[in-house]
Amino acid sequence: MAQSVWEKETYFAPKDVVIIGCGFVGLWTAYELINQYPKLKITILERGTIPSGASTRNAGFSCFGSVSELMFDMELMGIENTLETVKMRYQGLQRIQEVFDKKIMDYEGNGGYELFEKGGTYPIEKLKDDINYLNRLLAPELGLKKVYSDVSNKIEHFGFQKIQALAYSPYEGQLHSAKLVIALQQAVQSKGVQILFNTEVKKFKSHSGGVSIHTNLEAIIETKQLVICTNGFAKQLLPKLDVVPARGQVFVTAPIPNFRLKGTFHFDEGYYYFRNVGDRLLLGGARNKAFAAEKTTSLETSALIQSTLETFMMKRILPKGTKKPKIEMRWSGVMAMGKEKKPIIEEVQPNVYCAIRMNGMGVAIAPIVAQKVIKIMNK
Ligand SMILES: Cc1cc2nc3c(=O)[nH]c(=O)nc-3n(C[C@H](O)[C@H](O)[C@H](O)COP(=O)(O)OP(=O)(O)OC[C@H]3O[C@@H](n4cnc5c(N)ncnc54)[C@H](O)[C@@H]3O)c2cc1C
Repeated sequence: MAQSVWEKETYFAPKDVVIIGCGFVGLWTAYELINQYPKLKITILERGTIPSGASTRNAGFSCFGSVSELMFDMELMGIENTLETVKMRYQGLQRIQEVFDKKIMDYEGNGGYELFEKGGTYPIEKLKDDINYLNRLLAPELGLKKVYSDVSNKIEHFGFQKIQALAYSPYEGQLHSAKLVIALQQAVQSKGVQILFNTEVKKFKSHSGGVSIHTNLEAIIETKQLVICTNGFAKQLLPKLDVVPARGQVFVTAPIPNFRLKGTFHFDEGYYYFRNVGDRLLLGGARNKAFAAEKTTSLETSALIQSTLETFMMKRILPKGTKKPKIEMRWSGVMAMGKEKKPIIEEVQPNVYCAIRMNGMGVAIAPIVAQKVIKIMNK
């Protein structure tokens, strides 16, 4: 469809900044930019009818890392990198609550737990020492008193099966991801940021005046600066980046009578995660059952992962003898992983920047990733 003169002078007029991807990272980048520079002409290009990445398809944990996960991260990328990442996540969670009222995103600060079983991948006998170690390390960095504690005495209350230890952090919470995305969309649009949905970027080219962006639309969009925030889908536009798509599968049950869970729960270095959604159970993960098959951007669910999750629900989470609840919804989303568990925030070409690879914790880290990419753009 050929453009009219009016469309060319407005929707498709040259921009100061174009952001690809309307997930948390793209939206927070637009939010921080427009608040710092209210006169900027900013457009977000999103291929879906709604944001169609992980941001509206996740579990809604506002978390910064569980005990076993952080101990694993330190082995993988060292203490300093782990501390930096945890700090970014924690600060991101503060930023979300600074900007938005808790009610807008159904935020509940019910705390987060981690379950441990004997013979699992994490040696349970290390738990007490690791909790003390992490508290000494993190408390001063995050300005908190005690980040984790051992609450194994609560296992019986929850009714978990074959679980021998339980750790707790009062600083974790849960929220409604899509409500937060919508709040961000409304916040940036009210300040003049344009969002073009159903607009898929096919390629881009840097030139002396900026960047030309080719999309599925007839128009070529010109911008001074381009920020790519496509996370698990990044390889399409940036094939050289160390980013591997990682599908996460989830289900939600029907309401469960006498449901006792309240909060967010982690198991097996974060490979399993569950929470309450009212009196329903949301359970996700088990990607480690089929690593290779789950390195995909396909948004299907698979029988193997879904049945593994169902078994985990009946054999670990719900008290023995509980009638199997109906599974009401199943879905998947795509995360971005790589060799390191740190985001990639860099200039990839003149005037082209990327903020990619949230490693499965983008709810928390996105606001700070946005601030960091803006710092690089300003240099
Ligand atoms: C099942 C699951 C559970 C999760 N649970 C949690 C959790 O509890 N807590 C947490 O912190 N994190 C969680 N995550 C991770 C979190 O959702 C992500 O880290 C975060 O949403 C990433 O945000 P993003 O903006 O970087 O990417 P996305 O939200 O994926 O956004 C990228 C956007 O780019 C668009 N796009 C891609 N290519 C193009 C193109 N060529 N042109 C135009 N648009 C394009 C996509 O449609 C998409 O909307 C979970 C993820 C999954 C999948």
